[in-house]
Amino acid sequence: MTADNSPDRYSRQMRFYGIGEDGQRRLADSHVTLCGCGALGTVLANALVRAGVGHLRLVDRDFIETSNLQRQVLFDEHDVAENLPKAEAAARKLAAINSAVHVEPVVTDIDRTNILELVGDADVILDGTDNFEVRYLINDAAVKLGKPWVYGGSIGSHGQTMTILPGETPCLRCVFEAAPAPGEAATCETAGVLSPVVNIIASYQVTEGLKILTGHREQVNRELIFIDVWENVYRRIKIAPLLGKVDCPCCRRRRFEWLDGEMGSHTTSLCGRNAVQVAHRSAARLNFEELARNLEALGEVSYNRFLLKFTADGYEFTVFPDGRAIIKGTSDVERARTLYAKYLGH
Ligand SMILES: [Zn+2]
Repeated sequence: MTADNSPDRYSRQMRFYGIGEDGQRRLADSHVTLCGCGALGTVLANALVRAGVGHLRLVDRDFIETSNLQRQVLFDEHDVAENLPKAEAAARKLAAINSAVHVEPVVTDIDRTNILELVGDADVILDGTDNFEVRYLINDAAVKLGKPWVYGGSIGSHGQTMTILPGETPCLRCVFEAAPAPGEAATCETAGVLSPVVNIIASYQVTEGLKILTGHREQVNRELIFIDVWENVYRRIKIAPLLGKVDCPCCRRRRFEWLDGEMGSHTTSLCGRNAVQVAHRSAARLNFEELARNLEALGEVSYNRFLLKFTADGYEFTVFPDGRAIIKGTSDVERARTLYAKYLGH
């Protein structure tokens, strides 16, 4: 495929007073790390690549399922049939949309051992995740490295977003000191999610990213925006006064509790999936051929370059080359650890 780099590609955006030629050039020189490539993430990636960002690192741990298609705009039925990881499938679509952008898919679970490396060269970090554990980790890393990041979340018919400019605006922990306890907050499973609110929140996030990348930090939104598209609510909550007023462990005391491993875990119940992910970091990548042979007795085992699937005890296992597994059919973390040990060892 030949890259269509004609100046016309970005002409409508460059004609906009906030971008111009200079902004477009800055955009082409910029690096973005996008954490999560699901509902918010696919909208974010699509817009950034069309806008002509230079380098986009797409990080996601998950694979595509039919129930994703209602809102995850970069995926289709072929991706489900092919059992593709989200980051990989998204990268393929994005390459067809704009081959001039360097898209780097990374299929991994974001945790404290890899976050600094994943965001180290980013000019802005965008949040497309579905859980607070990763968001606090992003917040720690961003504050530690002094990098801007844009938080976004949506569930049911509502969503919220805020932009964090470390040192200039309150961080995530200034505003939300602690994550909701397990079972306390609604999930995609209990509350569902409407695609319009996902698109709205992600669109705010992309715009914030564009402002930062094109050198317009003065335009950045400094409030917490809350929108409910079903209940017709739009709120802007003033958070600027919190900066330096709350005794924030992260940005004030510079104690990075999530990054340093004082908080967080490696086994996570997945939002709305009746599934648990068990992370197991092994030095060597798994040999799927061998693993498939070992599991043959259980019934059908299928695998490709990216993942291996099998069913046992009525649970559906999806195993990744780095040793991670998503076990479907339970949201009980302990049960999942037991199942992992039973079929995959350790
Ligand atoms: Zn803070």
